[in-house]
Amino acid sequence: MKVNSEKWGKEAEIMNKEELVKMAYEAQKFSYSPYSNFQVGAALLTKSGKVYTGCNIENAAFSPTNCAERTAFFKAVSEGEKEFAAIAVVGNKKGAAYEELEFCSPCGVCRQVMLEFVNPEEFIIYSGKGEEVKAFTLKELLPESFAPGMVN
Ligand SMILES: [Zn+2]
Repeated sequence: MKVNSEKWGKEAEIMNKEELVKMAYEAQKFSYSPYSNFQVGAALLTKSGKVYTGCNIENAAFSPTNCAERTAFFKAVSEGEKEFAAIAVVGNKKGAAYEELEFCSPCGVCRQVMLEFVNPEEFIIYSGKGEEVKAFTLKELLPESFAPGMVN
């Protein structure tokens, strides 16, 4: 199985993007989002082929809310993972019909968290909308970034 990015001609020999998006939709089912009703799921693929999933977890005080992407990253990093190939992200309002689905991109905070652990020119972000998948590098979604090397 492979993660393909036809756009950049790169691939990680692990899992296809549709499968990763499917896992993000599975994780979305656990979304705790009673305030926004916007349910997000993420599936983070390590270079060794493991997948860590996450959902958004809201809080009545709002600022402690955690996004699905960061949930997946923090789960993985807390278990010793530091090498990542790709992440799939899906999100929609609770109960949305298939034809109402939209592509969902990571928020700015999550993009910054990703940058801490990946090469922005290689790490792929798959945004799913039902069976459709768009692919971006992190560098495309976070150009001119404040990178970890700047403070070392
Ligand atoms: Zn986020």
